[in-house]
Amino acid sequence: MNTKKVGRSATSAKKKEKTYPRPEWVKDSAEEELCPDCFKVVGSRSRYQLVCLLGKAKEGMTVTMLTAELELQQPTITHHLNVLRSVDAVTSVDSGRERIYTLNRDAHCFDECKIPY
Ligand SMILES: [Zn+2]
Repeated sequence: MNTKKVGRSATSAKKKEKTYPRPEWVKDSAEEELCPDCFKVVGSRSRYQLVCLLGKAKEGMTVTMLTAELELQQPTITHHLNVLRSVDAVTSVDSGRERIYTLNRDAHCFDECKIPY
């Protein structure tokens, strides 16, 4: 048993949030360290490609349109979109049989952490 006194160093007043290094494919961000939410958004190159595509599409895009732009299977794209939705980076509305995804520019990642798109 270790009975050595550790003093007060173990109880730091502020819990520091874990950060992640910015991936190489995110070119123009000033941030070198990303918060967990932002890392979810850009931690995968495909996901970041989706963000960039949606960033250019003011009216939003359907999964069909996104599938046509990226060399990914539809289920993969749907999965990535669900991850993006989980951190509010995209919003979706149902339109007939399709669902239209739009980038949520007010999301923490874009507004506060300045993830470029
Ligand atoms: Zn962030």
